[in-house]
Amino acid sequence: MKTYPLKDWGLDIQNPLIIAGPCSVETAEQLDKTVEGLVKQGVKIIRAGVWKPRTRPNTFEGVGSIAFPWIQEAKEKYKVKFAVEVASPAHVEEALKNNIDLLWIGARSTANPFTVQDIADSLKGVDIPVLIKNPINPDLALWIGALERIHEAGITKIGAIHRGFSNFNDTHFRNSPMWQIPIEFKTRFPDIPLINDPSHICGKRALIPQVAQMALDLNFDGLMIESHFHPDAAWSDAEQQLRPEDLGLLLASLKTRQVFVDDPAFASQLQSIREQIDDTDREILELLSRRMGLVEKVGEYKKINNVAVFQIERWKKVFQTRPEWAIALNLNPEFVKELYKMIHTESIKKQTEVMERHLS
Ligand code: PEP
Ligand code: MN
Repeated sequence: MKTYPLKDWGLDIQNPLIIAGPCSVETAEQLDKTVEGLVKQGVKIIRAGVWKPRTRPNTFEGVGSIAFPWIQEAKEKYKVKFAVEVASPAHVEEALKNNIDLLWIGARSTANPFTVQDIADSLKGVDIPVLIKNPINPDLALWIGALERIHEAGITKIGAIHRGFSNFNDTHFRNSPMWQIPIEFKTRFPDIPLINDPSHICGKRALIPQVAQMALDLNFDGLMIESHFHPDAAWSDAEQQLRPEDLGLLLASLKTRQVFVDDPAFASQLQSIREQIDDTDREILELLSRRMGLVEKVGEYKKINNVAVFQIERWKKVFQTRPEWAIALNLNPEFVKELYKMIHTESIKKQTEVMERHLS
């Protein structure tokens, strides 16, 4: 995919990229006060929901087009750029007509290829950055498909937003981060800017710092965070919005980590530790291979003595003892349990193969 890096988007991009603003535009006053506060904290790109995709009907669905004069005023007064969610060609047309600087596609829209295609078609011949949120369901292909549709329409300033994945009654996060999905995304598309939205992952203010830091530790390119001058009075997502001052404190507390380090002493130390990790991994695989050899041997023995492959008592014991051994070795017992589930599946497969080999 031929796309432009963030620095060539023609915007005054910070590193990491920070986009902050209200979940929804509510009133001229709310927008002005919020943007004023955010600008004081150094924010240069404001997010603002004009049309809101709501899970339930009869909730606030955004003020719609009356927001644009307020946005225009804030743009002129505070010299900021604006990002707005679009969910249809009509939204795209209105946003473009009103000088919006960036568009984003929401999680519910990304989940629907018809919607994404309609938006893509309406973007033909337009040069504007488009950010694509992950679909609400944990489906990497659907996320990539949406990026491809937008890219095929000729958009080259493309970014992805990780906002977590829908869950049933998760008490901790509003949307599960499932970090392995954005990590896989970054591995496959290292050149596409990836931004984290801790607000929609967390659902509550208190959890935001931890998730935002995690994203920076994983080398995300930026953050999109909801902010409102008076969060408790917000018409949508009240519990997760931060006051601009609190956003400022959060940004100041986040540690950005460098990917490449120039210091040669550090580089050689890192190299040496990585070599030790490689050696350890080789040893782990050699031991696994030895274990599977023993498993085959047991299989042969069971076959000769006409004993079934799966013996529940034995596996009960394995599942009980290994996590116990793990604790003594300072390993997470849950992790070891998961590992042994996979080892168990593979062992059963191996022994079944032994049985079949002897049958033929
Ligand atoms: C939003 O950004 O306010 C929003 C509706 O987010 P999402 O599409 O991630 O649910
Ligand atoms: Mn929101």
